[in-house]
Amino acid sequence: MDKLQDALLYINGEMRPAGNGAFYDNINPWTGKPCGQAADATADDVDAAIACARDAFDNTDWATNHDARVAAVTKYVEVLCANRDKLMQIARLEAGSAIGAAARAQIDGALNGAKDLLKCWEKVELVEDLGIKNEGYDTKRIVRREATGVVGAITPWNVPLYVNVGKVIAALLAGCTVVLKPAPDTPLMGTIMGELAIESGLPAGVFNVITSADPAMAGEMLTKDPRVDLISFTGSTAVGKIIMKNGADTLKRVFLELGGKSAFIVLDDAENFPMTVMGSMVVFHAGQGCAYPTRLLVPKSRYEEAVGALQMAYAGFADKWGKFDEPTCIMGPLISKKQLGRVSEYLEIGKQEARLLAGGNVRTDMGEGFEGGFFVEPTCFVDATNDMRIAREEIFGPVLVVIPFEDDDDAVRIANDSVYGLGGAIFGSTERAVKVAERIRAGALSVNGGVSITGDLPFGGYKQSGMGREWGVEGIVEFMEIKAIGIRAS
Ligand code: NAD
Repeated sequence: MDKLQDALLYINGEMRPAGNGAFYDNINPWTGKPCGQAADATADDVDAAIACARDAFDNTDWATNHDARVAAVTKYVEVLCANRDKLMQIARLEAGSAIGAAARAQIDGALNGAKDLLKCWEKVELVEDLGIKNEGYDTKRIVRREATGVVGAITPWNVPLYVNVGKVIAALLAGCTVVLKPAPDTPLMGTIMGELAIESGLPAGVFNVITSADPAMAGEMLTKDPRVDLISFTGSTAVGKIIMKNGADTLKRVFLELGGKSAFIVLDDAENFPMTVMGSMVVFHAGQGCAYPTRLLVPKSRYEEAVGALQMAYAGFADKWGKFDEPTCIMGPLISKKQLGRVSEYLEIGKQEARLLAGGNVRTDMGEGFEGGFFVEPTCFVDATNDMRIAREEIFGPVLVVIPFEDDDDAVRIANDSVYGLGGAIFGSTERAVKVAERIRAGALSVNGGVSITGDLPFGGYKQSGMGREWGVEGIVEFMEIKAIGIRAS
């Protein structure tokens, strides 16, 4: 299996190692062995990246010269798109993506999303003229949108390019400068964006990337530093809470895209009921998706039929996953040994709480060279209730939990009985399914397979799934402040 280039830091327009020369292993999840090295930034490196971003914001015309900036970002997006193959290879070796998943969610989703953001920028109203109002004398009123300043972008490992692009391209379009801190497990998907920024001629300092083996050090520095105006974070709800607390002292603008435990609701009048149920398997990218609907809710009246359909689906999928070179394969390993340990614990909890229908094992027999990979079987628990831990807690692995419901009200109640509110899918006769979707307290709902997550739609969570919106026009103006100016006119 190929090696990847080393992930270097990108600071002030240059790729360079950490100040002390330290590197850490970039682990390939398919093998458990290093596929490259990543620079292990020191606190001084993080400080330098913040200083550069601050200087570029305060002392260049990046935030105010809209035409030049948008031209530079457009060129940058072109260069990212031209490097699709390189990005695919990184998604496979570093993020453990199977080819079928790499093309869709990992890379094409990100690149198409970047192009969507360029179009969304055209819809951002930079100056709004509210006309003259008489308050004893005339005042002409103008509302302006202006870049917020220096953004700290902290991202996870599951769909790293997608999340990096959603923050970096939107923030740059808005006129902010950025320090990106990718997850320790996916460093190259962050720093490759620096290398491609150089190739595209993006001005030095407006974008910087720091990688670090320590998951918290660089992110905590960004969150607490008064030179950083805004933190855009995607990751777990637990770390999101720490970030909010750490940002409080400087009253940082904090936007959080967090975890989920979304519901996949199949109503009794769904078209082709068994096929629809089969489509609920949590297998794409080994279930490592924040908005993945991992609780399947099926009507009690058709429960046995649903379980039968799932049994067939999982049996049919048994030899279709974990194949590195297979273009149609959509499920590879989990990202890391740590994640394998976490998911394994939930497999044991699930075996105590519910009935195991399929899977349930860690696998070390996925073929020669793959013995050390982080593989877990596609797993399905049935006869579950919504108070079980496997139904309440985010597992972030290939684990589906099946819960029966009485009627539409009961389905809505169960779906909403969660601290999370990120995504969801509803299948049924359209009018009825839309009514159910309207009652689910979550940010992205799909009805009968409709796509609710694309670069031109706002994405984000209700409740503990986060605050703020990414992507779409909303995802750009999130990086902007609003200023009202009143000009005396008489
Ligand atoms: P994580 O919360 O452990 O880490 C996310 C990022 O935060 C990483 O870059 C990590 O290094 C950094 N970090 C860790 N501790 C920190 C601290 N104290 N201060 C600042 N930064 C810190 O999450 P993960 O394991 O990398 O990713 C999986 C999680 O991400 C899941 O919960 C998933 O639901 C969530 N996620 C959410 C979305 C979304 O858009 N809502 C998208 C993808 C993933």
